[in-house]
Amino acid sequence: MLRIGSHVSMSAPDYLLGSVRESLENNASAMMIYTGAPQNSVRIPIEKLKVEEARQLWLSSGFDMEAVIIHAPYIVNLANLDNPDTRKGSMEILQREISRSAAIGARYLVLHPGARLKADEQQALKAVGQALDELLGADQLTVCLETMAGKGSEIGVSFEQIREIMDNCHHPLEVCLDSCHVNDAGYDLGDIDGMLKHFDEIIGLDKLHVIHVNDSKNPIGAHKDRHANIGQGTIGLEKLRALVHHPLLEGRIFILETPYIDGRSPYKQEIEMLR
Ligand code: FE
Ligand code: FE
Ligand code: ZN
Repeated sequence: MLRIGSHVSMSAPDYLLGSVRESLENNASAMMIYTGAPQNSVRIPIEKLKVEEARQLWLSSGFDMEAVIIHAPYIVNLANLDNPDTRKGSMEILQREISRSAAIGARYLVLHPGARLKADEQQALKAVGQALDELLGADQLTVCLETMAGKGSEIGVSFEQIREIMDNCHHPLEVCLDSCHVNDAGYDLGDIDGMLKHFDEIIGLDKLHVIHVNDSKNPIGAHKDRHANIGQGTIGLEKLRALVHHPLLEGRIFILETPYIDGRSPYKQEIEMLR
Protein backbone atom coordinates (compact mmCIF):
# COMPACT_ATOMS: atom_id res chain seq x y z
CA MET A 1 0.00 0.00 0.00
CA LEU A 2 1.26 3.46 -0.93
CA ARG A 3 1.81 5.55 2.20
CA ILE A 4 1.15 9.13 1.19
CA GLY A 5 -0.20 12.17 2.98
CA SER A 6 0.63 15.75 3.72
CA HIS A 7 1.59 18.20 6.35
CA VAL A 8 -1.64 18.86 8.28
CA SER A 9 -2.48 21.56 10.80
CA MET A 10 -2.84 20.95 14.52
CA SER A 11 -5.05 23.58 16.10
CA ALA A 12 -7.71 24.18 18.75
CA PRO A 13 -10.02 22.66 19.80
CA ASP A 14 -9.20 19.16 18.57
CA TYR A 15 -5.44 19.39 17.98
CA LEU A 16 -3.98 15.98 17.02
CA LEU A 17 -7.44 14.45 16.66
CA GLY A 18 -8.20 17.23 14.16
CA SER A 19 -4.96 16.48 12.28
CA VAL A 20 -5.93 12.81 11.95
CA ARG A 21 -9.45 13.73 10.78
CA GLU A 22 -8.00 16.15 8.21
CA SER A 23 -5.68 13.42 6.89
CA LEU A 24 -8.46 10.83 6.66
CA GLU A 25 -10.64 13.40 4.89
CA ASN A 26 -7.85 13.78 2.29
CA ASN A 27 -7.69 9.98 1.81
CA ALA A 28 -4.16 10.09 3.18
CA SER A 29 -2.35 7.05 4.59
CA ALA A 30 0.45 9.08 6.18
CA MET A 31 0.69 12.48 7.86
CA MET A 32 3.13 15.06 9.16
CA ILE A 33 2.61 17.61 11.92
CA TYR A 34 4.48 20.29 13.80
CA THR A 35 3.73 19.99 17.51
CA GLY A 36 3.27 23.80 17.51
CA ALA A 37 4.07 26.74 15.19
CA PRO A 38 7.12 25.84 13.07
CA GLN A 39 8.65 29.31 13.54
CA ASN A 40 8.63 29.46 17.34
CA SER A 41 8.87 27.30 20.44
CA VAL A 42 5.52 28.11 22.09
CA ARG A 43 3.91 24.72 22.81
CA ILE A 44 0.51 23.58 24.08
CA PRO A 45 0.83 21.00 26.89
CA ILE A 46 0.71 17.47 25.52
CA GLU A 47 -2.29 16.58 27.77
CA LYS A 48 -4.46 18.96 25.74
CA LEU A 49 -3.62 17.50 22.33
CA LYS A 50 -6.19 14.62 22.40
CA VAL A 51 -3.38 12.18 21.71
CA GLU A 52 -5.20 9.01 22.77
CA GLU A 53 -8.35 9.70 20.72
CA ALA A 54 -6.19 10.66 17.73
CA ARG A 55 -4.10 7.51 17.96
CA GLN A 56 -7.22 5.30 18.31
CA LEU A 57 -8.78 6.83 15.21
CA TRP A 58 -5.56 6.55 13.17
CA LEU A 59 -4.88 2.93 14.13
CA SER A 60 -8.50 1.85 13.72
CA SER A 61 -8.42 3.33 10.20
CA GLY A 62 -5.74 0.75 9.35
CA PHE A 63 -2.61 2.92 9.56
CA ASP A 64 0.44 2.71 11.79
CA MET A 65 2.47 5.15 13.86
CA GLU A 66 5.46 4.80 11.52
CA ALA A 67 3.46 6.86 9.04
CA VAL A 68 3.02 9.72 11.55
CA ILE A 69 5.94 12.10 11.10
CA ILE A 70 6.79 15.01 13.39
CA HIS A 71 8.68 17.99 11.94
CA ALA A 72 11.00 19.90 14.31
CA PRO A 73 10.61 23.70 14.37
CA TYR A 74 12.70 25.71 11.87
CA ILE A 75 14.30 27.79 14.60
CA VAL A 76 16.39 24.85 15.78
CA ASN A 77 19.94 25.36 14.48
CA LEU A 78 22.41 22.87 15.89
CA ALA A 79 25.09 24.22 13.51
CA ASN A 80 25.14 27.66 15.13
CA LEU A 81 28.73 27.84 16.35
CA ASP A 82 28.73 31.66 16.22
CA ASN A 83 26.53 31.86 19.28
CA PRO A 84 26.86 29.08 21.91
CA ASP A 85 23.76 30.32 23.81
CA THR A 86 21.59 30.02 20.71
CA ARG A 87 22.96 26.56 20.03
CA LYS A 88 22.22 25.52 23.62
CA GLY A 89 18.71 26.99 23.26
CA SER A 90 18.24 24.96 20.08
CA MET A 91 19.27 21.81 21.89
CA GLU A 92 16.73 22.48 24.65
CA ILE A 93 13.94 23.07 22.15
CA LEU A 94 14.85 19.89 20.28
CA GLN A 95 15.02 17.93 23.53
CA ARG A 96 11.46 19.00 24.27
CA GLU A 97 10.31 18.08 20.75
CA ILE A 98 11.85 14.64 21.21
CA SER A 99 9.85 14.08 24.42
CA ARG A 100 6.68 15.44 22.81
CA SER A 101 7.12 13.14 19.81
CA ALA A 102 7.58 10.20 22.16
CA ALA A 103 4.44 11.16 24.11
CA ILE A 104 2.49 11.25 20.84
CA GLY A 105 3.83 7.79 20.02
CA ALA A 106 5.56 8.96 16.82
CA ARG A 107 8.72 7.16 15.75
CA TYR A 108 10.25 9.66 13.31
CA LEU A 109 11.24 13.30 13.73
CA VAL A 110 12.32 15.30 10.66
CA LEU A 111 15.03 17.88 11.33
CA HIS A 112 16.67 20.56 9.17
CA PRO A 113 20.45 20.20 9.61
CA GLY A 114 20.75 23.98 10.04
CA ALA A 115 22.80 26.91 8.80
CA ARG A 116 26.54 27.23 9.35
CA LEU A 117 26.47 31.08 9.38
CA LYS A 118 30.14 32.11 9.54
CA ALA A 119 31.47 28.73 10.65
CA ASP A 120 33.48 26.48 8.40
CA GLU A 121 31.46 23.72 6.71
CA GLN A 122 33.30 20.77 8.26
CA GLN A 123 33.00 22.21 11.78
CA ALA A 124 29.29 22.89 11.31
CA LEU A 125 28.60 19.35 10.06
CA LYS A 126 30.52 17.93 13.00
CA ALA A 127 28.66 20.19 15.45
CA VAL A 128 25.26 18.89 14.28
CA GLY A 129 26.32 15.25 14.60
CA GLN A 130 27.74 15.84 18.06
CA ALA A 131 24.67 17.74 19.28
CA LEU A 132 22.44 14.86 18.18
CA ASP A 133 24.79 12.42 19.83
CA GLU A 134 24.28 14.26 23.13
CA LEU A 135 20.52 14.58 22.72
CA LEU A 136 19.51 11.12 21.59
CA GLY A 137 19.30 8.36 24.12
CA ALA A 138 17.98 4.85 24.02
CA ASP A 139 14.60 6.20 22.86
CA GLN A 140 12.44 4.74 20.14
CA LEU A 141 12.62 7.96 18.16
CA THR A 142 14.68 8.24 14.98
CA VAL A 143 15.79 11.64 13.70
CA CYS A 144 15.58 12.01 9.91
CA LEU A 145 17.93 14.69 8.55
CA GLU A 146 16.23 16.60 5.74
CA THR A 147 18.14 17.34 2.52
CA MET A 148 18.21 21.13 2.07
CA ALA A 149 18.06 23.46 -0.96
CA GLY A 150 21.26 25.36 -0.13
CA LYS A 151 19.61 28.70 0.60
CA GLY A 152 21.96 31.09 2.46
CA SER A 153 24.45 29.10 4.52
CA GLU A 154 22.30 25.95 4.89
CA ILE A 155 24.17 22.70 5.42
CA GLY A 156 22.94 19.18 4.57
CA VAL A 157 22.55 20.17 0.91
CA SER A 158 24.59 17.40 -0.72
CA PHE A 159 24.28 13.70 0.12
CA GLU A 160 27.96 13.84 1.15
CA GLN A 161 27.18 16.50 3.78
CA ILE A 162 24.30 14.45 5.18
CA ARG A 163 26.65 11.45 5.38
CA GLU A 164 29.20 13.57 7.25
CA ILE A 165 26.63 14.50 9.92
CA MET A 166 25.61 10.85 10.28
CA ASP A 167 29.25 9.84 10.68
CA ASN A 168 29.64 12.30 13.55
CA CYS A 169 26.76 10.79 15.53
CA HIS A 170 26.96 7.35 17.13
CA HIS A 171 23.20 7.16 17.29
CA PRO A 172 21.61 5.84 14.07
CA LEU A 173 20.13 8.68 12.01
CA GLU A 174 17.94 8.42 8.94
CA VAL A 175 17.08 10.79 6.10
CA CYS A 176 14.15 12.78 4.67
CA LEU A 177 14.63 13.58 0.97
CA ASP A 178 12.72 16.69 -0.18
CA SER A 179 12.12 16.74 -3.96
CA CYS A 180 12.01 20.56 -4.17
CA HIS A 181 15.14 20.85 -2.08
CA VAL A 182 17.19 18.28 -4.04
CA ASN A 183 16.11 19.94 -7.30
CA ASP A 184 17.21 23.33 -5.98
CA ALA A 185 20.40 21.74 -4.61
CA GLY A 186 21.34 20.61 -8.15
CA TYR A 187 20.07 17.01 -8.43
CA ASP A 188 18.14 16.11 -11.58
CA LEU A 189 14.78 14.44 -10.93
CA GLY A 190 14.71 13.66 -14.66
CA ASP A 191 17.19 10.92 -13.72
CA ILE A 192 15.69 9.44 -10.55
CA ASP A 193 17.57 6.15 -11.05
CA GLY A 194 20.87 8.01 -11.16
CA MET A 195 19.99 10.13 -8.13
CA LEU A 196 18.91 7.11 -6.06
CA LYS A 197 22.04 5.21 -7.09
CA HIS A 198 24.15 8.14 -5.90
CA PHE A 199 22.11 8.35 -2.67
CA ASP A 200 22.64 4.63 -2.13
CA GLU A 201 26.40 4.87 -2.64
CA ILE A 202 26.85 7.81 -0.27
CA ILE A 203 24.17 7.28 2.40
CA GLY A 204 22.41 3.97 1.75
CA LEU A 205 18.79 3.66 0.58
CA ASP A 206 17.94 1.73 3.75
CA LYS A 207 18.40 5.06 5.61
CA LEU A 208 15.72 6.82 3.57
CA HIS A 209 12.42 6.80 5.47
CA VAL A 210 10.59 9.99 4.46
CA ILE A 211 10.21 11.74 1.10
CA HIS A 212 8.77 15.26 0.92
CA VAL A 213 6.97 15.53 -2.41
CA ASN A 214 6.94 19.13 -3.61
CA ASP A 215 7.26 20.75 -7.00
CA SER A 216 9.71 23.66 -7.23
CA LYS A 217 9.25 27.25 -8.41
CA ASN A 218 12.90 27.34 -9.47
CA PRO A 219 15.22 25.55 -11.91
CA ILE A 220 17.74 22.85 -10.94
CA GLY A 221 20.55 24.24 -8.79
CA ALA A 222 18.81 27.55 -7.96
CA HIS A 223 19.36 27.16 -4.17
CA LYS A 224 16.04 28.89 -3.45
CA ASP A 225 13.59 26.56 -1.63
CA ARG A 226 10.21 27.75 -2.87
CA HIS A 227 7.66 24.92 -3.06
CA ALA A 228 5.20 24.81 -5.96
CA ASN A 229 1.97 22.82 -6.27
CA ILE A 230 2.24 19.40 -7.90
CA GLY A 231 2.51 19.82 -11.67
CA GLN A 232 2.80 23.62 -11.41
CA GLY A 233 6.57 23.85 -11.04
CA THR A 234 9.81 23.07 -12.85
CA ILE A 235 9.82 19.37 -11.83
CA GLY A 236 6.34 18.50 -13.08
CA LEU A 237 3.75 15.82 -12.35
CA GLU A 238 5.35 12.99 -14.34
CA LYS A 239 8.67 13.06 -12.50
CA LEU A 240 7.01 13.42 -9.10
CA ARG A 241 4.68 10.52 -9.87
CA ALA A 242 7.68 8.43 -10.96
CA LEU A 243 9.34 9.27 -7.64
CA VAL A 244 6.33 8.24 -5.56
CA HIS A 245 5.96 4.95 -7.46
CA HIS A 246 9.67 4.13 -7.81
CA PRO A 247 10.21 0.43 -6.97
CA LEU A 248 13.28 1.25 -4.83
CA LEU A 249 11.15 3.55 -2.67
CA GLU A 250 8.40 1.08 -1.89
CA GLY A 251 7.19 1.36 1.71
CA ARG A 252 8.58 4.86 2.27
CA ILE A 253 6.47 7.67 3.73
CA PHE A 254 5.57 10.36 1.17
CA ILE A 255 4.53 13.78 2.50
CA LEU A 256 3.27 16.80 0.53
CA GLU A 257 4.20 20.31 1.69
CA THR A 258 2.83 22.26 -1.25
CA PRO A 259 1.27 25.71 -0.78
CA TYR A 260 -2.43 26.41 -0.20
CA ILE A 261 -4.30 27.71 -3.24
CA ASP A 262 -6.49 30.77 -2.52
CA GLY A 263 -6.54 29.82 1.15
CA ARG A 264 -7.64 26.23 0.43
CA SER A 265 -5.80 22.98 1.07
CA PRO A 266 -4.62 21.34 -2.18
CA TYR A 267 -3.79 18.01 -0.53
CA LYS A 268 -6.81 15.84 -1.26
CA GLN A 269 -6.54 16.57 -4.97
CA GLU A 270 -2.74 16.36 -5.14
CA ILE A 271 -2.69 13.00 -3.29
CA GLU A 272 -5.20 11.74 -5.84
CA MET A 273 -3.06 13.03 -8.74
CA LEU A 274 0.02 11.26 -7.40
CA ARG A 275 -1.72 7.96 -6.69
FE1 FE B 1 11.40 20.61 6.23
FE1 FE C 1 10.53 19.53 3.28
ZN1 ZN D 1 11.34 23.65 1.77
